[in-house]
Amino acid sequence: MKAVQILKPHELHIIDMEKPSVTEKDNVLVRMTAAGICGSDMGIYHGTNAAATYPRIIGHEMVGVVEETGPGVTSLKPGDRVIVNQVTSCGHCYPCSLGRGNVCDNLAVRGVHIDGGYREYIPVPESDCYLLPPLFPTGMR
Ligand SMILES: [Zn+2]
Ligand SMILES: [Zn+2]
Repeated sequence: MKAVQILKPHELHIIDMEKPSVTEKDNVLVRMTAAGICGSDMGIYHGTNAAATYPRIIGHEMVGVVEETGPGVTSLKPGDRVIVNQVTSCGHCYPCSLGRGNVCDNLAVRGVHIDGGYREYIPVPESDCYLLPPLFPTGMR
């Protein structure tokens, strides 16, 4: 599958990488359908984003369709449209214990600290997905 990778500042490539599969029981495989281009993506490209590490598959504002679910997934099914949370948090540090995963001590942002959504497929935990309504209400297709 194809992905957009910034190898180092000012060097962006379309790369080929192996299509990921669902390896964790609570994971879903999301087929990406859209990803925003953010000002921070520009910073990662230009080398002015202090948080970014390279090489990096960028893309932290992501929408897609669930293609496959792990055996432990209960709230999503293939065909569901989802937004993928850009923030990954550890779930057990002090901020996480207060429900503030956005400022987790071990925070990693997809597309910044870890690989993000500018690719055809991304595997993510079910809990990192927010269900969206269908594009058209039933019966309008
Ligand atoms: Zn952004
Ligand atoms: Zn945490």
